[in-house]
Amino acid sequence: METETATRQICRGWAARDPSGFLSPYEFSRRAVGNDDVWIKITHCGVCYTDVAWSRNIHGHAKYPIVPGHEIVGIVKDVGQNIGCFKIGDYVGVGTFVNSCQDCESCNEGLEIQCSRGLVGTYNSIDIDGTITQGGYSSFIVVHQRYCHKIPDNYPLEKAAPLLCAGITVYAPMKRHKMNQPGKLLGVIGLGGLDHMAVKFGKAFGLKVTVLSTSISKKDEALNSLGADNFVVSSDEQQMKDIARSLDFIIDTAYGDHPFDPYLSLLKTAGVYVLVGASSEVKFSPISLLMVPPPPFITKGPKRIYDSELEESPEDGRAEE
Ligand SMILES: [Zn+2]
Ligand SMILES: [Zn+2]
Repeated sequence: METETATRQICRGWAARDPSGFLSPYEFSRRAVGNDDVWIKITHCGVCYTDVAWSRNIHGHAKYPIVPGHEIVGIVKDVGQNIGCFKIGDYVGVGTFVNSCQDCESCNEGLEIQCSRGLVGTYNSIDIDGTITQGGYSSFIVVHQRYCHKIPDNYPLEKAAPLLCAGITVYAPMKRHKMNQPGKLLGVIGLGGLDHMAVKFGKAFGLKVTVLSTSISKKDEALNSLGADNFVVSSDEQQMKDIARSLDFIIDTAYGDHPFDPYLSLLKTAGVYVLVGASSEVKFSPISLLMVPPPPFITKGPKRIYDSELEESPEDGRAEE
């Protein structure tokens, strides 16, 4: 029993301690299981680029030591008194946030990601009790049931983990903007992580998927491993011209800076462009939303640009419930 008690109290993780981002073993404690909490033994955790960004303090707000990881899956080992929807042994997941005010208009509408009083990230955030949250590169986590998501029994947990951030980041806007109409044409910019999900969801929805990448070296992976229908080298003007005004949707997953106008020219009239990557700035000519440059301009608007919303709208139903 001593071993079990110790396991419950001392969380063993991997932490970055400075902007080198180097991860080393780190022991810390988590809060005791409250009435609304679920105690999860973590079995797997996805690796997200955000983990690298925070560990290396790229955004300048790192609170070291940082235990990264917000694609967490595991098995429920204990529950608080008020827990009705989870039981010991359940497969569950935790995504990019672990708390919010639970009382503002957004929270009451099930849009906690837009909490007006501030969302508490799964790591590197200050929780309501003043502690700094720590993520899933660790042995267990205690989380309020509201931010815990059921994973179907017998679903392979290692495959579920990437859905908790990368998956929902592309799935939510795809559902919201009706990118699930079989036969429509989807362009996916980039090929690293989010875009794997975008290609796979696109194919599952029956879309015809074109991967756009600056690197021809990604072609084999795009077509043969992920099952995309077409591959275009985006720096090749002729290849881009060949698919001008042909796409219904574009999901832009690129992390680096890139021009937007050439991609907007690929959209059909009223096409939808969803931005889920993290360019340092978004710069395009307003005319790209209305017409197809260069002269003679062809009217092809209005096109629409959105960001990722990380969460489905309530009318779509919650992603994990
Ligand atoms: Zn992430
Ligand atoms: Zn709120």
